[in-house]
Amino acid sequence: MSGRFAPTPSGRMHLGNAYAMLAAWLSAHARGEDVRLRIEDIDVPRVMPGADEWIRDDLIWLGLDWSGDVVHQSRRTALYDEVFAALRGAGLLYPCFCSRAEIRAASAPQEGDRFIVYPGTCRRLHDERPEEAAARIRAGERHAWRLAVPHAGARDGRILFDDRVYGAQDHDLGASLGDVVLRRSDGLYAYQFVVTLDDLLMGVDDIVRGRDLLRSTALQIWLRERLLDCGVGGVGGGAARWTPAQTPDYAHLPLLDNAAGVRLAKRVRSLDLGHLRAQGVRPQAVVGYCAWALGLIEQPEAIDAREALACFDWRRVRAVRGRDFKVPDDVGARLLAM
Ligand code: GLU
Repeated sequence: MSGRFAPTPSGRMHLGNAYAMLAAWLSAHARGEDVRLRIEDIDVPRVMPGADEWIRDDLIWLGLDWSGDVVHQSRRTALYDEVFAALRGAGLLYPCFCSRAEIRAASAPQEGDRFIVYPGTCRRLHDERPEEAAARIRAGERHAWRLAVPHAGARDGRILFDDRVYGAQDHDLGASLGDVVLRRSDGLYAYQFVVTLDDLLMGVDDIVRGRDLLRSTALQIWLRERLLDCGVGGVGGGAARWTPAQTPDYAHLPLLDNAAGVRLAKRVRSLDLGHLRAQGVRPQAVVGYCAWALGLIEQPEAIDAREALACFDWRRVRAVRGRDFKVPDDVGARLLAM
């Protein structure tokens, strides 16, 4: 079993990505596991040519190694097709013809992060008038495919898990996520589907990522169970199959924000590793800064990944979880001086 790096190659890694990768690497190594590298290039319109090479080069530069072949989601469509068909055959999916505007109009406004829970329009269509849905597909109408999760308040839709940083989690799938899209209307498979499937098939049992995905974890735990029910990830059956693992261990990290409190984005070049490296910043400075942001060391000082491993303890990360981490505007100069 292993940890994983799961970068989206939509641009050069920035300090926030390095921080998340470092945490994933430390967590896996602290439990005596390796890390697998999966390039999440399934969302083709978001992929930036060459970013995949940069990511590998930056990981090596940071001293964060991985084992085994690099997995590219864009090359796994045949596998995804097969599993998608199995989920469909199990009655877990339904076609959705709604446009974004229709969904927004039919949804109750959500507080906070603007995540919209699908109001269920096409689920009712599918349940009550399946022949109409089938006719619309035959007529070539654009449609996505959604996962039918238990309704809000349903007992089997209550997902409990323990996050190593944020503690006990209790999510109602129907109320907080709803029927997410597994295949988009442009035919591309969606993040929630491929990430859950690949984590299962790649034998990943240690998942470390930003706290923005806490709620998605509840869905991924549920979907993983459904995949196992469909025989995906079962014992034997070819190279891609693994012994079903227990639910992975999860750790979600506070986010890195800029000085204005906005999450670091790949669009902002100033904190990307290409820029920092070109300025002469050393990898030990980036690793040390990230280890400090994780709460592992008292002061930002240059250390390498092995040294960070010696200080690694989830309890330290937990102690700083109350706030996201603010990166000052002059961080480049600070890193250069480290
Ligand atoms: N490719 C996703 C990202 O870069 C990974 C999310 C995950 O770790 O599940 O945000």
